[in-house]
Amino acid sequence: MSDSAPVFYTADTEQVCCCLCGDAGRPVYDLPPYGVRRCSNCTLVFVSPRLQSMALSRFYDQVDYFEGGVYGDQSRFSPAMVLQRVWTAGRLGRIAKARNGRRPTGQRLLEFGSGYGLFLGAARDAGYQVQGVELSRPAVQVSVKQGLDVYCGQLVDAPLTGPYDVICGWDTLEHVPDPLAVLRRIRELVADDGTVALSTPYFSSLPSRLLGQRWWTLKPAEHIWHYTPYTLRLLAASADLVVTTMIRSPVSPANLTRLDSLVVLLRPARRK
Ligand SMILES: [Zn+2]
Repeated sequence: MSDSAPVFYTADTEQVCCCLCGDAGRPVYDLPPYGVRRCSNCTLVFVSPRLQSMALSRFYDQVDYFEGGVYGDQSRFSPAMVLQRVWTAGRLGRIAKARNGRRPTGQRLLEFGSGYGLFLGAARDAGYQVQGVELSRPAVQVSVKQGLDVYCGQLVDAPLTGPYDVICGWDTLEHVPDPLAVLRRIRELVADDGTVALSTPYFSSLPSRLLGQRWWTLKPAEHIWHYTPYTLRLLAASADLVVTTMIRSPVSPANLTRLDSLVVLLRPARRK
């Protein structure tokens, strides 16, 4: 984060409970003005106190939010951009496999948290009809300039009409105010034979367990929910979704080099 990153105080924060159980949780780490807590019922980890939504919007509107703006200029060479392209290709391949090789041409794909539109552009090139949702205004402006259809705001507020064949969110579910509401909205929007694909850091990963509160992905201002394979399955089930594939390997192209992240494919649990 740059020197221009906003500073937040206790007045910008709010207390929250587990989105599944309503439990206030027990403290795991104390990182003023934030706290990391674990639900005493389902074990889901969440940040409370956390930034209120107004403060959060200010945070994502920083032009350099996405790794110092590196993803804004896609013509510039950078190792981070090369890795993004490997993940994008790996993830499109995984989605195609989950869909039994059905051709993307004409299928509808929605990405929530579409950032600067790198994945969305690649999905469009692959033949999907794409739409995005993104909270960061500078990122939406870059996407729109590339001719992408992106709504600026939260998924639960976006005026979308399903069904979508594919809905994906890369490193987004840990940022949203209410992940259960997001997954339930996804279930409403995805086709009965559709595919949902997510990636997210996980709290039970080796780096998290070894490094504790020094884990580089803890970032309590922005990562406000922390999952494990168990709590992610639980959350999905509460939204009527079933996990079909869970990739933890850092050598899988969809998750290359990432020791602390999961790539997850899901499908509707039953027809509506
Ligand atoms: Zn809970």
